Amino acid sequence: MSNENIRIFREKLNLRVARDPGESYLDHMEIETAFVCVFCFQVNVTLVDASGGPDQEYTEDCQVCCRPNFLRVSVHPSLREAHIEATSP
Ligand SMILES: [Zn+2]
Repeated sequence: MSNENIRIFREKLNLRVARDPGESYLDHMEIETAFVCVFCFQVNVTLVDASGGPDQEYTEDCQVCCRPNFLRVSVHPSLREAHIEATSP
């Protein structure tokens, strides 16, 4: 993703936070989504921190088998949904 897109994303994030002062900060920053463990194929429900940017990569242990999944996270510009692609690290 280009720097320009990241700048637009950050602006939307700020606007959304500023526009709804009645809602908690966390409601805007965390998106509930899921990935399928590459080792045991169980669905892991997880929270993505949207403030980390539109494209994120990190390792998260499976909640079932505890083995590490390398996650590539894409946060939708609406900040309401995120897609996770899990691979073995
Ligand atoms: Zn697993």
